[in-house]
Amino acid sequence: MKAHHGMYIGGEWRPAAGADTIEVVNPVDEQVIGRVPAGTAADVGHAVRAARAALPGWAATPPAERAAKLAALRDVLVARKDEIAETVTAELGSPLQFSQAVHAGVPIMVAGSYAELAATYAFEEKVGNSTVYHEPVGVVGAITPWNYPLHQIVAKVAPALAAGCTVVLKPAEDTPLTAQLFAEAVAEAGLPAGVFNLVTGLGPVAGQALAEHPDVDLVSFTGSTAVGRRIGGTAGAAVKRVALELGGKSANVILPSADLAKAVNVGVANVMSNSGQTCSAWTRMLVHTSQYEEAVGLAAAAAAKYGDRIGPVVSAKQRSRVRSYIEKGVAEGARLVVGGPESPREQGYFVSPTVFADVTPDMTIAQEEIFGPVLSIIRYEDEEEAVRIANGTVYGLAGAVWAAEEAEAVAFARRLDTGQVDINGGRFNPLAPFGGYKQSGVGRELGPHGLSEYLQTKSLQF
Ligand code: NAP
Ligand code: MG
Repeated sequence: MKAHHGMYIGGEWRPAAGADTIEVVNPVDEQVIGRVPAGTAADVGHAVRAARAALPGWAATPPAERAAKLAALRDVLVARKDEIAETVTAELGSPLQFSQAVHAGVPIMVAGSYAELAATYAFEEKVGNSTVYHEPVGVVGAITPWNYPLHQIVAKVAPALAAGCTVVLKPAEDTPLTAQLFAEAVAEAGLPAGVFNLVTGLGPVAGQALAEHPDVDLVSFTGSTAVGRRIGGTAGAAVKRVALELGGKSANVILPSADLAKAVNVGVANVMSNSGQTCSAWTRMLVHTSQYEEAVGLAAAAAAKYGDRIGPVVSAKQRSRVRSYIEKGVAEGARLVVGGPESPREQGYFVSPTVFADVTPDMTIAQEEIFGPVLSIIRYEDEEEAVRIANGTVYGLAGAVWAAEEAEAVAFARRLDTGQVDINGGRFNPLAPFGGYKQSGVGRELGPHGLSEYLQTKSLQF
């Protein structure tokens, strides 16, 4: 794998301020595949200065020209699709086919959507005797996780650039090579120098310096609740904009009228996909008591089929986190029907696809985000109880409802405290707002709602 030794700042690869590096490890075989610089506050300072310097020019660039640059960026991502997939597979461990379809495919879709939105969005509107201008918020500090390395970057950078903002990105330490590849793509697409800048490094050092930098106008963060809370606090104290996307514990509610086999199979696939490292995964399956044992049997069979087809989790640290949750599930009395805490392979950070039955809503595995291939099946007696259980966590990011009639599923979905609900297996929509109720976050990503996060209004009265 190719790794740059510098930071991408002001349109060029510049030496890092310090000498420390981060090792990038392949989670499949635990081998070091590259090294990138571990940025410091000094690197962040340089990057923010470059972004600030580029802001007036980019903000004043007509939206149609910004759109053309984003289209060029999308085209470079398309041209380098295989390389993107190989890089994500190397540093995240996901199977190549999944990397091609999702890790490379979705960011291309999202970049394309913002190329279109930049060209068509109403950056100016009339409200009575006023003209309202939607202007860029300014310099954006973007901090991203490793679970969908390129998607998380594009879901912040593309709308920020479409809005006329400039960006400094601090990607996850586990997946910096994908971020460097993205910086290459930005350069190749001909975006003006300083509009996008990359500082690789550790969260508590480079990430924190970016979140605390006084000349950053908006911090957009995706990751853990613990770090998100801190970043929100820092932003609040500085009276600056913040967007937080903080994970979930989403419910897959199977109503008695649903096609049970389909709902269970799609539900299991949803949880096992990306080895369970998806913030919007439906990690709690809610089944009516009359169909409970049948659903458990179907889920066990579906999960067992995944056996060795899922990739490892991202790191040794993540594997031990997931295993300790599985152990906790057993200790708290849940019934392990497939999988377990033992490693299925000698090498690599693999976790067996795991299914728990007889999970009660208050158990740790039903309340906390595990971020691994672990499904909890919970029983409900009636619809009221199903609503209560589904809403009974601190999170509210996503979910699913299955019923024979769409109208029945929709009526139920309207009672859920959550930002996204898939009805009878509804498809991913890159234009639909994505983000959380409750502690799943603040703000929305994707589509026009995601674009408006990076805009502020100015009203002129006539
Ligand atoms: P994390 O520490 O919150 O990482 C997210 C990003 O924030 C990374 O770029 C990280 O850098 C950075 N960061 C860490 N500490 C920071 C600080 N003090 N100030 C500013 N930035 C900081 O999450 P994680 O350790 O990768 O994963 C832990 C758990 O978070 C997972 O098990 C999962 O439950 C949850 N998670 C949720 C999502 C999601 O999509 N909502 C994504 C990933 C993880 P480093 O890479 O150097 O840590
Ligand atoms: Mg971390």
